Amino acid sequence: MKTAIITGITGQDGAYLSRLLLEKGYNVIGIIRSQYGSNLSRLKYLGLIGKITLVEGDLGDLSQVLTILNSYKPAEIYNLAAQSSVSLSFQQPIGTIEFNVRSVLNILEAIRLSNPAIRFYQASSSEMFGLVNDLPITESSLIHPLSPYAISKVTGHYICINYRESYNMYACSGILFNHESYLRGENFFIKKLIHGALDILNGKEEFLEFGNLDIKRDFGWSEKYVEAMWLMLQQDKPEDFVICSGTSLTLREIVHYVFDKLKLDRNLIRINPKYFRPTEILDIYGSNEKAKNVLSWNYQMSFFEVLDLIIEEEQMNYGK
Ligand code: NAP
Repeated sequence: MKTAIITGITGQDGAYLSRLLLEKGYNVIGIIRSQYGSNLSRLKYLGLIGKITLVEGDLGDLSQVLTILNSYKPAEIYNLAAQSSVSLSFQQPIGTIEFNVRSVLNILEAIRLSNPAIRFYQASSSEMFGLVNDLPITESSLIHPLSPYAISKVTGHYICINYRESYNMYACSGILFNHESYLRGENFFIKKLIHGALDILNGKEEFLEFGNLDIKRDFGWSEKYVEAMWLMLQQDKPEDFVICSGTSLTLREIVHYVFDKLKLDRNLIRINPKYFRPTEILDIYGSNEKAKNVLSWNYQMSFFEVLDLIIEEEQMNYGK
């Protein structure tokens, strides 16, 4: 039985990836900050507690990472842990960059020192391409980060490439565009939108406030995107892949879709400039051609289908 270690196992992607790897027969080990402090609600929601092993560890400490690798002897490591919010990164630039970079470096260094044959996946992000010239974004598009979060992800991305090229390790990055689900963090746009809209429906809020709704984003479905992570570690050679839906929608189209679906008055949508970001990408979408061709990753969903699924699950769990 293959062992996989997942960092960030308590997050959206970590929970779905754990479930996928269990289905594929892996022994799944998750590194968490602390048994008591970590939020295990997503793992509980998917019924995964007891089926996976949770190990406490500080990813900022190389000796702790090395000890975990030597104890569990994984074949694969998926590095999903990160301070993952762009807006929070503007308030906490140093913490975001320090953790998101040091954790990648420590894991790769621990792999190099313990067993360089371990396969490594790094969670890179479309945010790396902040100042966009040419669309769609591909694996060779120009990188120009516009936030502390994006800077941390660019650095992690190049550390990963450097370990692959310098030490001949199986290290690769998935450059993922926004992907959503019921398990998405509460501070992210789609989750806030649907939750807020249900609050209006249930009389808990009177209206919803947003920042710039004219920006366009390429959104997808988390459960399908974690499949691509696994596929990346099953190839003959390590490569980086853009994972995306291939089309972008304005946030306004998305907000209108949710309000219309729940039969809410569009006049309850308000714009507040205080939510505008210091720097903002206006339109971004990627090409998933390489992932489709090389990984045989198959993605057909429209984002409206994804919204339907999330709204249904949110309604089922509302108030629980
Ligand atoms: P998420 O739900 O925000 O989960 C982040 C995970 O990182 C959580 O398990 C969290 O643990 C852990 N973490 C955060 N800070 C940590 C720290 N200082 N020490 C240890 N663990 C820490 O993120 P996600 O949506 O699943 O995304 C997974 C990865 O993909 C992230 O690296 C993210 O940046 C990247 N990514 C996501 C998207 C997207 O659209 N979702 C797109 C591109 C890239 P706690 O529970 O203990 O806080």
